[in-house]
Amino acid sequence: MESSSPDGTARNDLNTWQEIADYLRVSVRAAQLYESRSGLPVRRLSGGKSRVWAYKAEIDEWKRAWEARGHQISEEDPETSNLPEKEEGAASPATKLSPTLLVSVVALSVVIAAIAYLYRPRQPFQFGVEERSVVARDRDNRKLWRHGFPEPLQVPAYSTREQWVERGDLDARPATLEFLFKYVPLKFHEGAHMELWAFTEDGRVKWRFVPGKVVRAGSEFSDHYKIDSFSIVPAEGAVRTPLVAVSSNHAHFFPNQTAIIDGNSGLLLREYWHSGYLGHLKVSDLNGDRVPDILVAGVNAGYGQAALVVLNPLTLEGASGQPAGSSSQIHDPRPPREEAVVRFPRTCTAKSGEPHNRVSDFVIHPSGLDVHVSETHRDDGPSLTYTLDRNLKPVRVVASDAFVSYHSQLSRDGILKHAFDPREVEALLDQVAVERKP
Ligand SMILES: [Zn+2]
Repeated sequence: MESSSPDGTARNDLNTWQEIADYLRVSVRAAQLYESRSGLPVRRLSGGKSRVWAYKAEIDEWKRAWEARGHQISEEDPETSNLPEKEEGAASPATKLSPTLLVSVVALSVVIAAIAYLYRPRQPFQFGVEERSVVARDRDNRKLWRHGFPEPLQVPAYSTREQWVERGDLDARPATLEFLFKYVPLKFHEGAHMELWAFTEDGRVKWRFVPGKVVRAGSEFSDHYKIDSFSIVPAEGAVRTPLVAVSSNHAHFFPNQTAIIDGNSGLLLREYWHSGYLGHLKVSDLNGDRVPDILVAGVNAGYGQAALVVLNPLTLEGASGQPAGSSSQIHDPRPPREEAVVRFPRTCTAKSGEPHNRVSDFVIHPSGLDVHVSETHRDDGPSLTYTLDRNLKPVRVVASDAFVSYHSQLSRDGILKHAFDPREVEALLDQVAVERKP
């Protein structure tokens, strides 16, 4: 369904599962299976439990890639609906065949499909953790292999809310898929290290990466880091072989390391340090220059502001610059190499005593990105959503209902001396600081 935004531009989004399913011409159930099993790009609103939406352009792009890999969009289980099984169904004017021949062709096809089904490669499809192991299962939930760790895992860390596994091509051989696993030891809070492990699809350990190192920013910070977010940077454009980007934060929530690792060997290629907590990392070629951009977002401690940093995976290095005299300045002899830094203004509600605002999430879409900025420590608390275009120019800001009622409460309590005025939200747009680095 086409909808229009207040400024009259056509929006090409789909706002419910039914709309997404209709657009793909499948049932809602099939659309949901495509999302969970085959990466159909469906987005969820921050803070909302069940609200989903999708961009038609992204759905189209996914569909093209899906079909290019020999699949068709159908009601069937996404993983089995590949071309060989579908071709006979697609032979449209089959009426030219005699009934007997048709029956034989159909029967033979069924036999071939059944054999193909029985002997299809059993690839890991889903992962689970047990006390001290990760277990890979195929799409029929049959166990393929198990890898045991020497130490027990912190099982609650492996919830659906946290990112802990990602599948993709790490070795520039797309025929085999590898996967990344976040190793969270039970004794993490007693000093054991969190690590990123890479496995081959048959369960061999490819490499391990230990994030962080001892750094100085005012005082000294130990090498004990929490991996918050990671993503495979596919070999495309200027990136010749797959890379892995990992955002890790010190166990005391400061500072942040964004590391670029060679996908095949696991070697640390380069790293960027930020004075703050950047809990979200995403990869996208924002400006279309064929170099993927690494976007990391969270909070900058020196400025006490929500921040978004754009990095080039092939050049990032150094440590972020902080206000003069700031005790949060990380000691690093190299100047920071960032593509851009965006800081989001504190609102008047900051007077209520919150130490900083922060990016609670962000979503990349065809025309730019939506950055959700929380004014308190709560994810479902008062927030603003800033829309930036693909050149990071702020184009829109919307206050959540929770923000308006929070503001009203602070006005009633006398903490704020003014009533909420929608124009103060508009005025925030000019206060977004966008620093582009040459
Ligand atoms: Zn105000």
